[in-house]
Parts: sequence; C-alpha cells; structure tokens
Amino acid sequence: MTSPFAYARATDEQDAVRLAAQPGTAFLAGGTDFLPLWKAGLAAPSRVIDIGRLALDRIEVRDDVVVIGALARLADAAGHPSIRRELPGLAQALLASASPQVRNMATIGGNLLQRTRCPYFYDTAAGCNKRDPGSGCSAIGGVNRGHAILGASDACIATHPSDMAVAMTALEAHIELLGPDQGARRVAIARTRAMTSAARRASSTTHLVNSRSSGKSGSNRLSKRRPTSPLMAMAASG
Ligand SMILES: Cc1cc2nc3c(=O)[nH]c(=O)nc-3n(C[C@H](O)[C@H](O)[C@H](O)COP(=O)(O)OP(=O)(O)OC[C@H]3O[C@@H](n4cnc5c(N)ncnc54)[C@H](O)[C@@H]3O)c2cc1C
Ligand code: SF4
Repeated sequence: MTSPFAYARATDEQDAVRLAAQPGTAFLAGGTDFLPLWKAGLAAPSRVIDIGRLALDRIEVRDDVVVIGALARLADAAGHPSIRRELPGLAQALLASASPQVRNMATIGGNLLQRTRCPYFYDTAAGCNKRDPGSGCSAIGGVNRGHAILGASDACIATHPSDMAVAMTALEAHIELLGPDQGARRVAIARTRAMTSAARRASSTTHLVNSRSSGKSGSNRLSKRRPTSPLMAMAASG
C-alpha cells in the first residue's frame, strides 16, 4: 500500500543534502527504482527530495579522468564518445542494463543506489533482513541460484544489482559524495558498500570519476532473459 509523502525540489546540491539530513527522507532522480518500490509499499519515506533538475548530468574529460555527473542518464553515458573509446567495459555494462526505455530515464547515481533485486525482498510474506531487519534471510536455504557465492554474510547473500558497479569496480572508479557534515569527499567505489545505509541516504552522489584507461576493458553478463538482473556480471580492465 502506498503511503503519502511530502515533496520538495532541491535548488542545488547543498540544498539537497540539507533537506535530506532529516530522517525519513529519500532522493528522487529518474524514479525507475524508487517509484515501483513506493507503489509496492516497500519504500515509505515521509519526504521525497526531487534532485532530477540539478545540473549534475554532464559527462566531461578533465585532464586524465572521465567525470560522469550523477544525473547523467545511462543511455547518454553508454553512447558518450570518450566512454566508448576509453572505457569500453563501462559502455558495455551500461548497454547490458535494463531496457532502452529504462536507460533513457535511469541515472548513474540512482543505478548505484538502487535496491536489491533479490525476489524475497519483494515478497512481504518472506523473511528478509534487508527489508525488515531481524526477520531472517529466506534466500539462505531458499531459491538462491542468482545469489552470492563469495563475499556474502550470515545476514544477507544478495549480490549488488548494478551492472555498472561491477565495471566501475574493475576500472577502480571513485565516487564524489556530498554530505551534510563532511562536505564533499571522494570514495573508492569498492569502499561504498561498507558505508552504513544511513550515511548513504544522507549523502548525495554527485559524480563518478574514472581514470582514462588504455581502452582495454570489457564487460559481460549471464542472464536467463533480458531485461532482468543477471545471474552473473563480470568485468575486467587492463
Ligand atoms: C525493468 C527494469 C530492469 C532493470 N534492469 C537492470 C539491469 O539489468 N541492470 C542494472 O544495473 N539495473 C537495472 N535496473 C535498475 C535501473 O538501472 C535503476 O532503476 C536505475 O538506474 C535507477 O536510477 P533512477 O535515476 O531511476 O533512480 P531513482 O529510482 O530515482 O532512485 C533510486 C535510489 O537511488 C537514490 N538516489 C538517486 N540518485 C541519487 C544521488 N545522486 N545521490 C544519492 N542517492 C540517490 C534514491 O533516493 C533511491 O533510493 C532495472 C530497472 C528496471 C525498472
Ligand atoms: S539475500 Fe536474504 S536478506 Fe538479502 S535481500 Fe535476499 S532475502 Fe533479503
């Protein structure tokens, strides 16, 4: 069941993190992940901060790095000449994600922050520590063919849902975050999973930063059908 929320549109990045510092707040970018969750009653923020019109959609090459704004659309990033030429593994991962319609709407920041694709998360009759902390993990001992083999915990064996994050990790990308207390900071993408969900919620992802590579990178995935989350996503960079 949907629950009502107050709506506010952020005027700039600082305004966004200031508004999001209040508990029970969520950001709205392209809405392709958040809105279905809200409609299913799986997200119930008291306030939604619309960041969709902030000027964070540019993709630029600055010195030796490619900088991708958090509000760049997946389709625009996948088709960008610098990304196609120098980070082909990232372009391939973006093109493998979802459908053309979703890629035209979905943003880079939202892709990283999307919720899990574990089916038990969406089944409110099943225990799921991610949805309802302390209720157990139905995937452990359940149908878990698409779940993690390595790097799981006793509480959750879900894999990261983002194809792009796998390529970004192989490319050793960094994320620029803007938080209410610490200001702007740069975090290696591999370290962001260790951040608490509260810290992630209170921060706005502003940019993704990739060193320009030699153009030697690639991504692939195994899935039963498309568009859906893959059974396995892989990426390598040389
Ligand atoms: C049918 C379908 C198939 C899909 N298949 C794939 C797939 O194969 N591979 C894949 O990788 N993904 C897939 N996805 C996921 C899709 O890529 C994400 O839904 C999308 O990237 C989310 O971006 P958004 O801008 O719509 O985010 P939103 O829905 O607006 O937000 C998602 C979350 O991110 C937070 N958020 C958004 N922007 C920021 C920011 N700048 N800073 C901090 N928090 C932020 C929001 O608060 C929210 O919690 C699929 C989605 C659908 C609907
Ligand atoms: S793996 Fe377990 S805890 Fe994690 S999302 Fe799935 S059911 Fe929930």
